[in-house]
Amino acid sequence: MCFKIAYTPLSLSVKIRFMKHELMSILVCPVCKGKLELKTEQESNGEIISGSLYCPRCKVNYPITETIPNLLPPEKLN
Ligand SMILES: [Zn+2]
Repeated sequence: MCFKIAYTPLSLSVKIRFMKHELMSILVCPVCKGKLELKTEQESNGEIISGSLYCPRCKVNYPITETIPNLLPPEKLN
């Protein structure tokens, strides 16, 4: 009998759907591609539940809600 483990390339979507500290090294501002500053409001097991990502260059806050970082450029939020 052979058990095959289905390996799907989920890693990318998981990375986007769950905000973790490790992600800070790959996340950049969608507008200026600059570094973002993480502000944690609620955290559980290394996952940021809520908080925000702040771009000091654009002076824009990107909210993190239910572990999902919203990195839409500000003009698309309006
Ligand atoms: Zn920026």
